[in-house]
Amino acid sequence: MEIKTVRGMKDILPGEVARWERVEQSARSTLRAYGFEEIRTPVLEATGLFERAIGQATDIVSKEMYTFNERGGASVSLRPEATASVCRAYVEHHMNSEGALAKLYLIGPMFRTERPQAGRQRQFHQISAEAIGCAHPLADVEMITLLSDLLIGAGADRFTLLLNSVGCGHETCRARFVTLFTQYLKAHLPSLCPECRGRYPKRVWRILDCKKEGCRKVTRGGPSLAEHIRTAACDCGRHFETVQKGLKASGVAFQIEPCLVRGLDYYTKTAFEVVAQGLGAQDAVAAGGRYDGLVELLGGPQVGGVGMAIGLERLMLALEAGGKNAAEEAKGGVYVALLGESGVESALHFVRKLREGGVPCHMAFETSRSLKSQLREADRLKLRSVVMLGEREMERQVVTVKDLVAREQKELPIRELVAYLTRAVQ
Ligand code: ATP
Ligand code: MG
Repeated sequence: MEIKTVRGMKDILPGEVARWERVEQSARSTLRAYGFEEIRTPVLEATGLFERAIGQATDIVSKEMYTFNERGGASVSLRPEATASVCRAYVEHHMNSEGALAKLYLIGPMFRTERPQAGRQRQFHQISAEAIGCAHPLADVEMITLLSDLLIGAGADRFTLLLNSVGCGHETCRARFVTLFTQYLKAHLPSLCPECRGRYPKRVWRILDCKKEGCRKVTRGGPSLAEHIRTAACDCGRHFETVQKGLKASGVAFQIEPCLVRGLDYYTKTAFEVVAQGLGAQDAVAAGGRYDGLVELLGGPQVGGVGMAIGLERLMLALEAGGKNAAEEAKGGVYVALLGESGVESALHFVRKLREGGVPCHMAFETSRSLKSQLREADRLKLRSVVMLGEREMERQVVTVKDLVAREQKELPIRELVAYLTRAVQ
């Protein structure tokens, strides 16, 4: 019986990889321009890392992690997101030395056992960035501007940046709001959707961003998170104002979304999400926010941090929906066709030389194949030129080069071949 990919996991086939590479390359150059350096952490981490960082009661940790015991017993999990791992690495490798800001990015697969649907997989990929070691609101501005530039650089143009502040644990800030909100909800439980009723009273926080109309009506009638943050005794209100001013000055458009909260416990103050048009229900291509207590929670110094993650599968879908992600027509490459045994040795020599010169090169292995079938293969591979090496050509020290785009062919002295083809593909 045929064995297929595991549910919710997808192969990214050669035809698609070119598009992924394009997006990743443009991202890397934007990230470099913003002063971010790449970090690569293991996909497997101690389960305790995510329990502590993301929060045990969150959907991600309580329901969506691939968790198993290593031989010998320790519980490990496939990473469901990157921030916890990057902050762990920041602490483990003492990256806070001299109080420097660590600007790190990671590109790689994440794993969550969610129900697969369009734009939702069990293995998906993120480009994520973290700026650790700074509590200043301008770090949030830089992170959000970076996100906007990454999306524009990838070719996405129809997206909306939603912005909110989720406050902090100060007794006059989010903590007070949550107490009042929990009290308020008690009388309205029957009007909530079953899922939100299940979130009461431990995860009332998530009820705020439920998209169902019934729940929205209830939350709109309750205490206002924005008002609490604005009037709290901590600096959350001022922080949020500075972020908004900074974004305006940077020319980044945003929309305040007072019900936006994130599903991970570690967020404080700034929270944001990017939604793209044409994606249906799974329309969030990126999300992020500030996480001021996280590094300390992981045993590190008391420093602030801010980060974001772009979902690459959803970004690809958004680019397709906007007609921006068409497969690129092949531009070059050479097929070395063989007309009998006598050309084999010369062919091996040329193929090596051409590849050295950076010319993508394919070679027929079976000399018994007809020229017609070899030309068909070159067409299928979308190559530009075919070099024909046969007995007659070898005797005369010439080769025939056929240009499949211009549909013409010419004969060249053999010693000019490499230089000619290297020029032709550039
Ligand atoms: P959603 O509300 O869509 O479940 P999320 O809030 O769980 O998203 P984050 O944890 O903030 O998402 O992850 C950041 C980004 O990663 C999302 O905006 C999305 O683009 C992408 N993402 C998250 N989960 C998945 C998934 N299961 N499949 C594909 N992409 C995902
Ligand atoms: Mg989710």
